[in-house]
Amino acid sequence: MSGFDVDLFVIGAGSGGVRAARIAASHGAKAMVAEEFRLGGTCVIRGCVPKKLYVYASRFADDFADAAGFGWTLPSPPVFDWSRLVAAKEKEITRLSGIYGQTLERAGVAIVRSRAEVVGPNRVRLTNDGREISAKTILVATGGAPALEPAIPGLEHAISSNEVFDLPDFPRRLLVVGGGYIAVEFASVFARLGAKVTQVMRADNVLRGFDDDMRAGVRDALAHAGVDFRFGVLPTAIEKTAGGLRVALSGGGEAVFDQVLVATGRRPHTRGLGLESAGVALDAAGAVKVDGYSRTNVPSIYAVGDVTNRINLTPVAIREGHAFADTVFGGKDIRVDHSNVPSAVFTTPELGTVGLTEAGARAKFDVVDIYSTGFRPMKATLSGSAERVAMKIVVDGQTDRVLGVHVLGHEAGEMAQLLGIAVKMGATKADFDATMAVHPTAAEELVTLRTRSARHEK
Ligand code: NDP
Repeated sequence: MSGFDVDLFVIGAGSGGVRAARIAASHGAKAMVAEEFRLGGTCVIRGCVPKKLYVYASRFADDFADAAGFGWTLPSPPVFDWSRLVAAKEKEITRLSGIYGQTLERAGVAIVRSRAEVVGPNRVRLTNDGREISAKTILVATGGAPALEPAIPGLEHAISSNEVFDLPDFPRRLLVVGGGYIAVEFASVFARLGAKVTQVMRADNVLRGFDDDMRAGVRDALAHAGVDFRFGVLPTAIEKTAGGLRVALSGGGEAVFDQVLVATGRRPHTRGLGLESAGVALDAAGAVKVDGYSRTNVPSIYAVGDVTNRINLTPVAIREGHAFADTVFGGKDIRVDHSNVPSAVFTTPELGTVGLTEAGARAKFDVVDIYSTGFRPMKATLSGSAERVAMKIVVDGQTDRVLGVHVLGHEAGEMAQLLGIAVKMGATKADFDATMAVHPTAAEELVTLRTRSARHEK
């Protein structure tokens, strides 16, 4: 040991921090991790995991409706109980958070239940008892926090994704502000659970940055599920009244809601962490600036995950934390490859995606071929549901390499995971064509799409 209290001090026991601490310990490092909230971070406690549980809950609404077409008769209108879902979710989250603690303890990582702040290149202070710890290396893995916009009178009455999982009462009338991942996912969930959902956003469509045809598909599917969209509209004031939250909307008009969920992005969690005093450079958005090894401008301080605002996804944070630990404590040399990261938006239907959008490919490549299809999934034939599947393969017309694949439909997230392997390996359209179909599936369309829909040449 080096004269420091610990080899590694990790601030934040979320996805990235926990992985980094555990792997560093497995390489023999004396590691300590501080967490001011619950072990597991945003993803486990109030993000991906509870969100997916609520998505499952919401989809029973479709299943019950579909069942009749397959010969089932449900005894009575199915009844949904919000408080039972919240309680079941809480039980599972508590279990998972416990597993995080056990995993760290088994790996020999010391856990400190306190906020920690950086006080120097090799020093942190625990705010609960003022104790200072010296560390050879500090890892900042504090994630992000909801950023509620715009700053309007009465914004304090709105909630963020932090609060939405544990609302004491089911919001029968819900206003969702924003059109990103979080906004569309919750609009989809609450509309299916029976809420009257209104969704407003400054843009003219949901999911900026995703493929335009898929964006249109998500919008149409949510509208079909009952979401009342207002594009180019934002709240201008929120007033608490006896009948609910009265919200004034830009362009005139007002309406009353039980809850206003603002999902207008997340901000790196760096405020008050003492990073500036240690000389750590932040960017304009407040994110920690790092190099390919997640190292800041201060050689003893590293940062991984959402706090660096690279690609704000849990698996990316985990990979960054693992690579950091292997490189700094395991004698390896690993940079995380941030290209072709597959991801999914868990609306119903889901959007699974990897690689470039059609517009993104056209901006970068001289010849872009598009193979796309839209169809009714087999299940919809008997159920009579209006569900549609959309698929698009974006191909470099000069090399035949698949640049991106986008799927809107049931289990598209699962498809994106496997498509990610093919695209990461540099598969060509010919490789897709040479792959035998699995029948009957929806995904088989991805290997049977022979007719080009469009060719774009510069
Ligand atoms: P996003 O960046 O996805 O969306 C932000 C939304 O807020 C956009 O509609 C944006 O509008 C709008 N917005 C931003 N600033 C303002 C403003 N000043 N006034 C009005 N509207 C504004 O953020 P989310 O909060 O939805 O999610 C945060 C991150 O969490 C995501 O980027 C993603 O990385 C991660 N995440 C991933 C999920 C998944 O993988 N399934 C699920 C949930 C979150 P505009 O489009 O006009 O810019």
